[in-house]
Amino acid sequence: MNSVLETAVTDCHPASVPDYTPVAELRELQLERLQTVVTRAWQHVQHFRDRMDERGLKPEDIRSLDDIALLPFTVKSDLRDTYPFGLFASPMKDVVRLHASSGTTGKPIVVAYTQEDVDVWTSVVARALAGCGLHRGDIVQIAYGYGLFTGGLGAHYGAEELGATVVPTSGGNADRQIMLMKDFGVTAMCCTPTYFLHLIDRAAELGVDMKSLPLRAGVFGAEPWTESMRKHIENMSSIEAFDIYGLSEIIGPGVGCECRRHNGLHIFEDHFYPEIVDPETGDPLPDGSEGELVLTTLSKQAMPMIRYRTRDITTIMPGQCECGRTLRRIARIGRRSDDMLIIRGVNVFPSQVETALLQIEGTLPHYQILLTREQGLDQMEVRVEVTPHMFNDKIGALQELHGKLQGALDHVLGIRVRVSLVEAFSIERSEGKAKRVIDRRTS
Ligand SMILES: [Zn+2]
Repeated sequence: MNSVLETAVTDCHPASVPDYTPVAELRELQLERLQTVVTRAWQHVQHFRDRMDERGLKPEDIRSLDDIALLPFTVKSDLRDTYPFGLFASPMKDVVRLHASSGTTGKPIVVAYTQEDVDVWTSVVARALAGCGLHRGDIVQIAYGYGLFTGGLGAHYGAEELGATVVPTSGGNADRQIMLMKDFGVTAMCCTPTYFLHLIDRAAELGVDMKSLPLRAGVFGAEPWTESMRKHIENMSSIEAFDIYGLSEIIGPGVGCECRRHNGLHIFEDHFYPEIVDPETGDPLPDGSEGELVLTTLSKQAMPMIRYRTRDITTIMPGQCECGRTLRRIARIGRRSDDMLIIRGVNVFPSQVETALLQIEGTLPHYQILLTREQGLDQMEVRVEVTPHMFNDKIGALQELHGKLQGALDHVLGIRVRVSLVEAFSIERSEGKAKRVIDRRTS
């Protein structure tokens, strides 16, 4: 064991020891698990077997990790088309938990866990939190929604496994969240970044100084957020903000997480195999290229996911992290391939709007994009919440802010948009996640 590794390991909770597995050993384990999971899916999931047959493939054709590229992709519509249990590889008597995601249309997508799957999930979240410097003695408030959504229970089990004291507040009721943070001496918060921003704003209104609380870390996920948002959160609250990544289709939170170097998110590669592909052609891209993240669950029992197209755009970062973990990292996810809006022929991402807003004093990073079509022409309106202080101020200040925002957005987006300033808390939030885009265009 070299000295960097030694320091890193002794730094951390025992849960994170697998993070330092030597690369060659890790690759061997991944191949063995890939072969097992492909065989399992082929034996028990008709949908997967049909896709393999179409390609003339058998599980024994997977002889190396590169052979993963031979396998068919799984996409979100496969989960909808096989609703509710069509992709299960375990009989229901072995399934101990079901979760479901709220679909935007029609039926939700359903995911299943055996006891072994729950144990893996617990262990990866514990490793994620340990990587954020959390440990026994921390008091962790979990304000992700509990229920069919994977956020709450996923974070909960992981934090308990770590030996931390868990405060399972679930989402909603900001005033009570703030009271408990203060009275219980909460040291770490798990929620969406949008919800934490909301708590910062509300605490200020209640006269609670977030910076004077024992809170020192925030583990934020379930929606893409930018580096400017991290700076904003850290400045407003004096905490260290971490990005955690996950999706229900794969396991829930805990697929990957930042370590204290904040230089990309380590993927828990012993359980989730990452690839980057060209989002148009599906061709695999080498490490370091930007493309769509594709994940394969290497150990899932109840519902193995083979080459799941996440729609998240990122890169696998070359080289090893200074923390000593051998797990590869992905760059922070700022956008999704299906988030891209095409406005009058120009590509626009909501994260660009966020970056522009955060450069300007007096606005809150709460915004909504409203798309309409007037006389055949796309119109984009950006509604931005402003601080109550600003709203009560002279009309001149509001006009000046409007001008600045207009300038910043025109510059970043390269198209003319309408800017509307609205009162704080007037943009709807649901389950702590922001609904960024309302598209009322009819084609
Ligand atoms: Zn690291």
